[in-house]
Amino acid sequence: SAKQNGKNRFARFTSGNTQKITELYNILQRLPDGIANCEFSMNYQPIIHARTGKLVAIEALIRWHNKDLGWIPPDKFIHIAEAHGKITQVQYCMLNCVCQDLQEIKLKLPQTDCPIRTAINLSGSQIADIEHLNQYLSTLENQGLSPTEITLEITENMLVGDAKEIVEYLNELIHRGYAIALDDFGTGYSSLSYLARIPISTVKLDKSFIDPIENNKAQMSLVSGVLQLAHSLGLKVVAEGVEHASQRNLLIDMGCDYIQGYLIAKPMAPEELIKWISLQNE
Ligand code: C2E
Ligand code: MG
Ligand code: MG
Ligand code: MG
Repeated sequence: SAKQNGKNRFARFTSGNTQKITELYNILQRLPDGIANCEFSMNYQPIIHARTGKLVAIEALIRWHNKDLGWIPPDKFIHIAEAHGKITQVQYCMLNCVCQDLQEIKLKLPQTDCPIRTAINLSGSQIADIEHLNQYLSTLENQGLSPTEITLEITENMLVGDAKEIVEYLNELIHRGYAIALDDFGTGYSSLSYLARIPISTVKLDKSFIDPIENNKAQMSLVSGVLQLAHSLGLKVVAEGVEHASQRNLLIDMGCDYIQGYLIAKPMAPEELIKWISLQNE
């Protein structure tokens, strides 16, 4: 009966919610220790030139392993860290890992095989506080990294606040040698005019934007249009989440510059990445 259904729905709703609250509680409770013990590590995913297949960059993606909770994916804890004032510390742990890993990668690979840039994901609160971001980037530079080897990934929902101030600051960062990428394009309220207004070097088309291109002519036109617009603005385009050769071939035909996805490689620990790069260049 309807009443029965209603009851079931309610039961499902509460149990789902309880699970979410338990998860939130577990993560919140362990986050301070996670930070203090630096339980974080980084994986690196290659970004290749679409036509030649040559490695151009890697994206640093955070991983958290806790002895009680096991592996916790970033989609589960980053927003919690943001909401509870812990993201700055997480981002500093991440930065330390990236600096150490890049040192090792540079030590073990000939310079010609090293990726040109490493992309790191910024958090919304970092963009909102320019003074803090400046301090963060000083830390990065003091640890021996050069702005010319870093891409800062931002998303459009980070660009609320004082747009004019942020635009000025992003211009300054580009002047200092950083590359700026607009991440997850096609997921938010992406207005195309955004691409013209904010100073970026690269647009990253989200997986959900790429996925339907194979079976959906309209989506293909949309991606093709974004590619043309981006190129006319002097921007490069990365397609994210490319899993099939057929998608890659379509993207190459449409003139997409760079590709990132499981088809090429999954995110890897530094040692694995070094092996992967060495094999590519054999
Ligand atoms: P993102 O920056 O858009 O990163 C791309 C995500 O897509 C990564 O998930 C990557 O593993 C996944 N991916 C790449 N290729 C494929 C594919 O072919 N198929 C599928 N199914 N997935 C693919 P991940 O590592 O779980 O990260 C999720 C999100 O968490 C990131 O999305 C980013 O927004 C955030 N994140 C990751 N690391 C950091 C970090 O150090 N700091 C901050 N603030 N956020 C981070
Ligand atoms: Mg990213
Ligand atoms: Mg992305
Ligand atoms: Mg994404």
